[in-house]
Amino acid sequence: MKGTLDELHYSVELLERDAAVRDVIDKHICDQTLAQKNAFFVADLGAIIWQQIRWKSRMEQVRPFYVLKCNSSPVVIEILAALGTGFICSSKHELELVKSFGVLSQDIILGGMCKQLSLIKYAAKLGVQLLVCDSEAELRKIARCHSKAKLLLQVTTGGCCEREETSMPFGLTLKDCRHMLECAKELSLHVAGVKFHIPSCCAEPQAFTHAVSDARCVFDMGEELGFVMNILDIGGGFDGTEAQLEKVNRALKPMLDVYFPPSTGVSVIAEPGAYYVSAAFSLAVSIISKKIVSRDAGQHPDDELSGNDEPEFQYYMNDGVFGSFAYKLLDESVPVPSLHKEKSLEEPLFSSSLWGPSSDGLDQVVESCLLPELSVGDWLVFSHSGANSLGAMGAHADGHRPPVHYVISAGDWYEIQNCGVTLDTTMKNFSVVQQPSLTETSISTPA
Ligand SMILES: *Cc1c(COP(=O)(O)O)cnc(C)c1O
Repeated sequence: MKGTLDELHYSVELLERDAAVRDVIDKHICDQTLAQKNAFFVADLGAIIWQQIRWKSRMEQVRPFYVLKCNSSPVVIEILAALGTGFICSSKHELELVKSFGVLSQDIILGGMCKQLSLIKYAAKLGVQLLVCDSEAELRKIARCHSKAKLLLQVTTGGCCEREETSMPFGLTLKDCRHMLECAKELSLHVAGVKFHIPSCCAEPQAFTHAVSDARCVFDMGEELGFVMNILDIGGGFDGTEAQLEKVNRALKPMLDVYFPPSTGVSVIAEPGAYYVSAAFSLAVSIISKKIVSRDAGQHPDDELSGNDEPEFQYYMNDGVFGSFAYKLLDESVPVPSLHKEKSLEEPLFSSSLWGPSSDGLDQVVESCLLPELSVGDWLVFSHSGANSLGAMGAHADGHRPPVHYVISAGDWYEIQNCGVTLDTTMKNFSVVQQPSLTETSISTPA
């Protein structure tokens, strides 16, 4: 969805003490069953607030800048802005979106390694000064149209696992960094710090040890050349679990204490994306078609031997990898869904695969899972669906993103007010509405 200003008003349903997100999903499924059975999201804003509270308690010395491409739902931006995070944008649309929420330019970083000239100009016009950069070509473009830019040089952290090897080779070696610093100086550009990014699959303590000491080398080189180096960006890759946050902090803190103690005046920042949104969003989809794959004994000699003649089911859902499951194309695994309808424990389970509606071979969402037999019209609920489903990755071809129904529990709502966020001032595009009962009329956001 391309958010526009006329969409800037949202209702958030306040949940009574004993209501759960699950009840809200049930209610909307009930409504949808009478209507078109369209897919929809339910977003629990409390989950986002708790992630911020966890961040503050575990990573106190690191300021988070939320990566918009992960999920650019306006309510997410508004709540995170109210909670005081900065933002990483990588397109004109993302810059416009965060600016429309009144985020200050100093709290925005233009990320992305390959920037169109017009985007750099637009950042300059908005007064967004922090830009990430990892090549001389980028440096020259920035020098042409953004002389006030403050650059963060992205250093490579090396391939640390199989997945990293297949990803794009971004980042500078230490030797490249010296060249870049000299080049920046020649172009009268300002370098303000260093960024590295360690993907969550590689978040081993040694990776942080290396990256922080490399960053120190680049800081030293930069200072030697006369730059005021004062920002260290430790990137993203936080999977959302408290355990990982703690692990990262345990590796990071001693390194920061040695190389970047507070006396150096260096601000340490991070770029979490999935961390904030993954668990907060659940996606409900309905089964629109179904096929039974008969097992051909000729192709499955093992089955014949073991006497396995159970059918396999292919289910087609009304959302797929060309929509909210685009993250499947990033090689991220899709969680096994839960069934909306309670099935009895005695029901037999069958090998099943789940597909999007496009009839394209790529549109396989879940390759294989065990489910009781489903019927057309049944619903499945995918939890942890907030990351890369409603941002730049979401590929809703016909422009129809599933609607998002926002909820917050009463307890969490009081919590956010304790964090100093007030409805009238900081989150003026929100209204929190109390539902007398979950079976009353539904609330939705503008589509
Ligand atoms: C996507 C992205 C992130 C966030 O990654 P997560 O795994 O969601 O934390 C951080 N930085 C950059 C530059 C990204 O492109």
